[in-house]
Amino acid sequence: MSQQGYVATPPYSQAQAGMGGYSTGFGNPPPQSHYGAYGSPPQGYSAPPTGVLKPPASSPSGMPPPPVSSQYGANIQQNGAHPHSFAPPAASAPSMSPYGQPPQSVYQSMAQAPPPTQQLTNQMSSMNIAGYGQRPMQSPLSSAAPQQFQTSPPPAMGHPPTAMGHPPLSPPGQQPPSLGSPPPMATMGSMPAPPMGMTGPPGPGVHQPPLGPQGYQQQPGSPIAGPYGAQMAGPQMAGPQMAGPQTGAYPGGFPGGPSQMAGPPQKKLDPDSIPSTTQVIEDDQAKRGGQVYVTNIRGQVPPLVTTDFTVQDQGNASPRFMRCTTYSFPCTADLAKQCKVPLAAIIKPFATVPKNETPLYIVNHGETGPIRCNRCKAYMCPYMQFIDGGRRYQCGFCSCINEVPVQYFQHLDHMGRRMDLYERPELSLGSYEFIATLDYCKNNKPPNPPAYIFMIDVSYNNIKSGLVKLICEELKTLLDRLPKEEGAESSAIKVGFVTYNKILHFYNVKSALAQPQMMVVSDVAEMFVPLLDGFLVNFQESQAVINNLLDQIPDMFADTNESETVFAPVMQAGVEALKAAECSGKLFIFHSSIPTAEAPGKLKNRDDKKLVGTEKEKTLFQPQRGVYEQLTKDCVAQGCCVDLFLFPNQYVDMATMGDVPSHTGGSVYKYSNFQVEVNGQHFLSDLRRDVEKSIGFDAVMRVRTGTGFRATDFFGAVHMSNTTDVEMAAVDCDKAVTVEFKHDDTLSEESGAVMQCALLYTTIGGQRRLRIHNLSLNCSSQLSELYKSCETDALINFFAKSAYRAMLNQPLKTVRDILVNQTAHMLACYRKNCASPSAASQLILPDAMKVFPVYMNSLLKTPSLVGSTELSTDDRAFHRLMVMAMGVEETQVLLYPRLIPMHTMDVSSESIPAPVRCSEERLSESGMFLLENGLSMFLWLGQACPPDLIQNLFNVPSLGHLTAEGTSLPVLDNAHSRKLHSIISSISQQRATSMKLLIVKQKDRAEMLFRQHLVEDKGLHGGASYMDFLCYVHREIRQLLT
Ligand SMILES: [Zn+2]
Repeated sequence: MSQQGYVATPPYSQAQAGMGGYSTGFGNPPPQSHYGAYGSPPQGYSAPPTGVLKPPASSPSGMPPPPVSSQYGANIQQNGAHPHSFAPPAASAPSMSPYGQPPQSVYQSMAQAPPPTQQLTNQMSSMNIAGYGQRPMQSPLSSAAPQQFQTSPPPAMGHPPTAMGHPPLSPPGQQPPSLGSPPPMATMGSMPAPPMGMTGPPGPGVHQPPLGPQGYQQQPGSPIAGPYGAQMAGPQMAGPQMAGPQTGAYPGGFPGGPSQMAGPPQKKLDPDSIPSTTQVIEDDQAKRGGQVYVTNIRGQVPPLVTTDFTVQDQGNASPRFMRCTTYSFPCTADLAKQCKVPLAAIIKPFATVPKNETPLYIVNHGETGPIRCNRCKAYMCPYMQFIDGGRRYQCGFCSCINEVPVQYFQHLDHMGRRMDLYERPELSLGSYEFIATLDYCKNNKPPNPPAYIFMIDVSYNNIKSGLVKLICEELKTLLDRLPKEEGAESSAIKVGFVTYNKILHFYNVKSALAQPQMMVVSDVAEMFVPLLDGFLVNFQESQAVINNLLDQIPDMFADTNESETVFAPVMQAGVEALKAAECSGKLFIFHSSIPTAEAPGKLKNRDDKKLVGTEKEKTLFQPQRGVYEQLTKDCVAQGCCVDLFLFPNQYVDMATMGDVPSHTGGSVYKYSNFQVEVNGQHFLSDLRRDVEKSIGFDAVMRVRTGTGFRATDFFGAVHMSNTTDVEMAAVDCDKAVTVEFKHDDTLSEESGAVMQCALLYTTIGGQRRLRIHNLSLNCSSQLSELYKSCETDALINFFAKSAYRAMLNQPLKTVRDILVNQTAHMLACYRKNCASPSAASQLILPDAMKVFPVYMNSLLKTPSLVGSTELSTDDRAFHRLMVMAMGVEETQVLLYPRLIPMHTMDVSSESIPAPVRCSEERLSESGMFLLENGLSMFLWLGQACPPDLIQNLFNVPSLGHLTAEGTSLPVLDNAHSRKLHSIISSISQQRATSMKLLIVKQKDRAEMLFRQHLVEDKGLHGGASYMDFLCYVHREIRQLLT
């Protein structure tokens, strides 16, 4: 068997402590600090190896494997062993308001649960919230049966709807097992009691107007915009009902006890008393930063995405590739339903690997191709157990016993492990690649290298703004930097050029030509490509002709009056060109206006702010189907990814124009009111990054799981034509797919939960490969294990994506209600089952989820979900599309931006000053703060900002000399300026898109743009402050527990 392509270099040259360390005592225990954050002794050591210890006796070895079928054939059931029966979505009417639900508290049934063992009271904080002890409204949420997101996939997707949310909690009588060990938790000081004199829930449809300063503000003429507007009662509702015994045990608790709490609200609450995201991030960095994270332990929770750590793959995929919402799955579906914590993995198959980590090894099994389980088709991986002297192996996913192919035979050592364990990546690593054989190629032919087609809108606006000239100039140098295969001299990617307005112009740039030739296609209804030879070329070979063309384009259209454009025919032309060239590739479309010219896919302005806050608001975000839907299918079938660079001056129907890009693994960039001088550099940075980034084409991803659970739903820039194959015309280093899992049987603590993500794709050099990521999690019948192993950043990524998809089918209010409802349920279940008895007035949060509420509240306030007429529909749709493709790092910083005090920067140090909490309270008039969320960056200047700092950074004597808007940051030769620029550049390098720096002065109009990112404060466009939200959630929890 050929093994070329795989070179055994360190860490392979030496035997490693690795997978074998699971149960056999091999391998070093991980640094203690890996567990420090979770407050309990290491769990992983005693865990049995994943799949490896599964007794052969229990395997269905006698079962004949089902007929062998190709992995990527349509509609192949995932695991032969899995029954397809699956818990149906709960029957609750999806769009029914929770107000109408019967007041049935499932938690009541659990009131007699055995008291958990002594709780660890981490007295990390306590709250002073005297203002919220009023008589609150009966919460509609607490009494309602939990709702679910309604999923009605687009017709193209063809798979049956599956619930995204979680079914109602388990029926009465389901008692959770008692705890074995005290779970860590954050105990917050006393909070106001729930209403004592409640008179029952309001009737269906009864809306209480929002009161007081908290919560969503009511839009005129619309019902309550937010799920908790009504409940955040204002001062007039303050009453004497404050109850809940005060435990004096919590420092920093209520200063005055109940008597004070019955009074009017105190405006000044101590914000330091509630869990701080910046603190959690700092703590994790202190504990786990700078360390090597070794992936040899099943169910091990990785450091936070914000922590700087190095990964060493020893049998599980790096968290850069796969991150889970929890690393301990509940054993049964009932437990999963009870806690309502989503079970999901966020997979970024092409995640960038830092230079100090080992790149993926490539395994070449030659003509025989990768070894796969006969039954479930899982690829050879560390979870396969070799038996029978090495002649057979048992699949770690479906337990099927397979023969080892003769050429793959290897003797076993005394531990039952193959002698070549550490010489083969597929036996010892979490992630690796296989060279795919012709069986994995379209029509059994090796693929051609991909092509990039640049398609430039040359209508009046783009010519006038100077955009066309800017693009053409940039491409002359940029095309020299196309990505290339490792070790290759030049890029194999072919390039082609199209310009268009109402008609399309194709260019022949064959190297033999002295001048480029233009071919015009004016029949946009029947798009075809007028030339084959000379359209897609190698840049190096045709450089002279291409540069000639790029010089001419701006002049050719300099006098254009044409302002109308087509759009769908442009994409059609691109996909036809790739079809003709029999290759995959990417379209770079630079477009400025809504396509109104008479052509397929013509759009009209359907923006209607009157729909905001109504049942029909969702239609604003639903793409126009028809032509665009068909285009998505054509593109995906051809491996044609679409990147859209939009330069709109007004409404462009972003929801529709971004539809094809967002289903083909593409990106959408938006530069409103584009001016070369203002946004030029920002756009060029994005373009450069996009052209150069690592990417795979014509991809199909399949996620296989061990028995007992399976992948049921997928969120991302993907297309699904059946229920299991995730199709991506392309997938790049920034795109993540969020995968939800559901039980279909009981999981065993011994076997754990294993998953394997297999991505078949074409490299930029035209090689067909399989990228494999394996991950093993623990399973437990103790909910405390699940909560202990939760990952808040991954959870919020799941919630963001599921909510953003649900908002296409459900009223936004319902989506928001579900989010709040589920937050309360997850936390109430923890309180009920994992925390020891304590005063109801204490808010007790699982340690691993203690900042979850701030993220959730921030999600509710995002432009897409908030439902404000002040926000542009296109901006909201754009935000939605961006988030759908995001990984955990991106959603984390988006929902909790970094706010960095710059006036305190130490110019002699390399480090970035520690961020502070995202709240106005943290700003100071004499300060200067940098805020970034991965999409935008601001430099906020306080009114009393020291003049010498202003002088050093802007070269003007005082703040008053800075113009209000459009100020840029000059590069000056002094320590402060250099330091600030270096911080900005180091932050920019960490982010997937370039961020335009906006400089805002305190009290300027533009300050509003900055302030909307202070996520702990009340939302500018609606939405509660963190403190108010926490109070509200606490009240909900108490309702659920009574
Ligand atoms: Zn199998």
